[in-house]
Amino acid sequence: MTAPALGPRTAHKPSTLRHIALAAALIVLALLVVFGVTLRATYSQGAAEDRLRNALSASSELELLLTQHVAANTDFMSSAHTAGFNSGAWPVRRAAAVASAYERLEADLADTPESVASVKELRRLSTIWPEQLDAAARTIALAGETSPVDAGLLQRANDTFSSIMNILTMLRTRERDEIAQMQFKSQSELAGQKIFLSVLGTTGALLLVLLLYTSHRAALARATAKVVASEAERRFEEYFQNHPVAMLIYDVDSYLILTANAAAQRQYGASLQQLRETRMDQLRPAEEAEHFCRDLKQYVESGVQGGSGGLRRHRRADGTTIYVDIAFHLLDYAERKACFISARDVTAHERAKEALRVRSSALEASRSAVLISEKSAGASIITYANAAFEKITGFPAREVIGLEHWSVLGFDVTSEQARSVQLAMQSDTEGSALLGCHRHDGTHYWSQLQVAPVLDESGRPTHCVTVFNDVSERIRDQERLRALAQQDPLTQLPNRLGLNAQLNRLFSLTRRDNERIALVFLDLDNFKVVNDSLGHTAGDALLREIAYRLSSRTGPHEFVARYAGDEFVVVLYGRGDIEGFVTAAREMQAALSRDVRIENRLVRPQASIGIAVYPDHAQDPETLLRCADSAMYRAKPVGPNGLQIFDEAIAQENSERAAMAHDLRNALACGALSLAYQPRLSLETGLANGFEALVRWDHPKRGSVSPALFVPIAEENGLITEIGEWVFEQACRQTKVWARQHPDIVVSVNVSPVQFLRSDLLSVVTEIIQRTGVNPRNMEIEITEGVLMAAQSVATLRGFRKMGLSVAIDDFGSGYSSLGYVRSFMADRLKLDMSFVKGIGVSTADEVIVKAVIAMGRTLGMQVVAEGVETHRQLEFLIENGCEEIQGYWYARPTDAARAAAYLDTPRQVARVAGGSNL
Ligand code: C2E
Ligand code: MG
Ligand code: MG
Repeated sequence: MTAPALGPRTAHKPSTLRHIALAAALIVLALLVVFGVTLRATYSQGAAEDRLRNALSASSELELLLTQHVAANTDFMSSAHTAGFNSGAWPVRRAAAVASAYERLEADLADTPESVASVKELRRLSTIWPEQLDAAARTIALAGETSPVDAGLLQRANDTFSSIMNILTMLRTRERDEIAQMQFKSQSELAGQKIFLSVLGTTGALLLVLLLYTSHRAALARATAKVVASEAERRFEEYFQNHPVAMLIYDVDSYLILTANAAAQRQYGASLQQLRETRMDQLRPAEEAEHFCRDLKQYVESGVQGGSGGLRRHRRADGTTIYVDIAFHLLDYAERKACFISARDVTAHERAKEALRVRSSALEASRSAVLISEKSAGASIITYANAAFEKITGFPAREVIGLEHWSVLGFDVTSEQARSVQLAMQSDTEGSALLGCHRHDGTHYWSQLQVAPVLDESGRPTHCVTVFNDVSERIRDQERLRALAQQDPLTQLPNRLGLNAQLNRLFSLTRRDNERIALVFLDLDNFKVVNDSLGHTAGDALLREIAYRLSSRTGPHEFVARYAGDEFVVVLYGRGDIEGFVTAAREMQAALSRDVRIENRLVRPQASIGIAVYPDHAQDPETLLRCADSAMYRAKPVGPNGLQIFDEAIAQENSERAAMAHDLRNALACGALSLAYQPRLSLETGLANGFEALVRWDHPKRGSVSPALFVPIAEENGLITEIGEWVFEQACRQTKVWARQHPDIVVSVNVSPVQFLRSDLLSVVTEIIQRTGVNPRNMEIEITEGVLMAAQSVATLRGFRKMGLSVAIDDFGSGYSSLGYVRSFMADRLKLDMSFVKGIGVSTADEVIVKAVIAMGRTLGMQVVAEGVETHRQLEFLIENGCEEIQGYWYARPTDAARAAAYLDTPRQVARVAGGSNL
């Protein structure tokens, strides 16, 4: 780190500071005192000295004056008898000395007014005294002969001298006293000053020592602190830079980041320079920047030096958010108030916590009950139960914690499902079960339960999670739906599904009771006639009456089911031997055969019956049903009210059919199927208009198998859709070849009603036409009348028509369809069933029908083809009645494509009866 020296903000020790401050104050005070005292002493000393000097000078002047005056008096005395008129005592020199002495004396004593007055008096006396002396000298000089000495003059001179001496003496004494006094005072002051100075000196010395000591200590402390600080700084530097936790220092006032360690640079995905250009608040998400400023202000104001800043969100340079745990410390850095922070990245931890929190909230919010149990010593002890658990079971979660896992669910532990799920839990695998459970209050509910082990890092199962839901409602719905799905809404009888379900239950019973079960398969004879003639409502009423009549003849464990449209199955139970069942069936047949009044019409229902018995004819419900069904089919052709018991012959036939179904599958795969083409002769042109494509199966053992035999089998097992597609594609390919020479050719292909059950028949046909490239106009779909009865089929037929294909109704007149259905879809061609053609010349009714169909076709614009024309007589009749096309052995048998082509080019002579011309 090349940043300026940093260090924690160190507070100086208060005692040291106090010492230094005290010492400094004392020193200053002492200096002030010394200065004052000195100043005062100096000042007063100066004044005293001046005074003393004046006093000494005055004293000296006074001594001089005394001496001069004494000397003058002595001189007067010694020269009195020799002197002339002058005394000689006051020569000029003396007078000048005395005068200047007075001058100085006056200056010396100028400050003392009483002395000034005395000097003034003295000076006056000194002035008059020489004159008196001279006067006396003159008296003396004149005395003797003529006059005596004037003693008065002498006396006055003497008095003046005495006065002068007194004043001088008095002044000298005063001055001497003053001098003595001043000397004493000066000495006292000096002594005091000496004492004060010595005390002051001692104090000063002590203070100096203290000051020196204190400053030494401070210097020492500073030196130590410096050493410590530099060491701390070095360590801090090392600590800061190499610390694995992100650390930053920012300016408390500007928030600018001042420095950051390597870990911080990594953590925030930014270089040191980038961080230095960032403010600390910018590290926080924008919406939290304000919080940062507020928090920091609070810390700073509270005087807290450091502590935990808590968990915060920070932003990396790439904008992603991380969670950091902040610790902070206020310090001085580069002479700024700064804050040091460590920001430990706890994102993973926080995310894990968050995920855990979300998961545990999800667990709590889950509508599924969740139990977590811990595996311990072979048992599973519940450690957690969520709110849904309480809601579903009624057990408070806190009461079940600590209990054994399975003890709280209240289900039958011996049930198959319960055992499987317990086993899964014991073996630490996943398992699920539908369990009937009991709540806390004893009420029953259905629980859909799943268990799964929870593994630790080493793969050891430590816990088990159990999730379950109350599915009672669903089960009830299912049961309702199942009941509905198993019930025929018209008769309220079990339908095919219901039959299977109840039959299975009865089989379980019969295995225990060792009883026989008979299935009586009833198919109403000519029910379609009722439906078509009296309408569906009447048909429904008849079905309900039959259901009632049959049901009223059943005993315990016996029931009646509506198997399909007009097919019923009566399940008989435990009536002894087969004969007992046959008797019951006959009674039912008789009961059915009584007249029913429907819409004021009397209808006599009749039914063909097939009977199969368990265990005599089959061992399982499915096979038994097939046996009864095939017996009924055997009874049907016998005539109304036929009854057939399943037997060996039927069994044989069934097995043959089963074998054939198996072989047919192989045939399709092995290419054993082929197409034959039977031409349709135009009675107009004598040429073939086109062909009907007929499938052929060349069986390795059976030889050529008729489609009349194998198509119903293929319809039964669903193989017909594959066969149908194959036939259509082959026919399209062949037609495309013929159409090159004969563009108007129309080749028809038979489409089974079962193929129409497939919703995508239209798209399959479209796809084949596109693939083969045949013109759809050359193709025709042959359907049977039954197809018209389903609305869905009619939509498909319209689709074919739209594509350009034509539609023919095959075997017209042989089915049950009413003319209403024919009207619902106008076919292009009607193929008159060969049974009517066969009746030409034999049955007037057939001839009438043939004529009527030909007339209807012409009127409605549908071409009529007569099928199965074998004789010339038939041909003539048809020509006579205006039939346009024929198909039959008279003209041509179905043949292979190569031979069939000849019919397109070779005309056949047909006698035209009405028109008289021959082709
Ligand atoms: P269909 O569609 O009515 O076909 C006419 C049947 O009558 C053919 O029998 C044909 O050989 C036969 N036939 C034609 N002229 C005469 C005649 O003068 N006298 C007699 N006695 N019979 C004649 P085939 O080929 O045995 O077909 C039988 C039925 O099998 C067809 O009756 C048709 O319903 C069905 N079939 C044939 N091929 C197919 C096919 O590819 N798909 C489907 N779904 N059914 C087919
Ligand atoms: Mg046909
Ligand atoms: Mg036909």
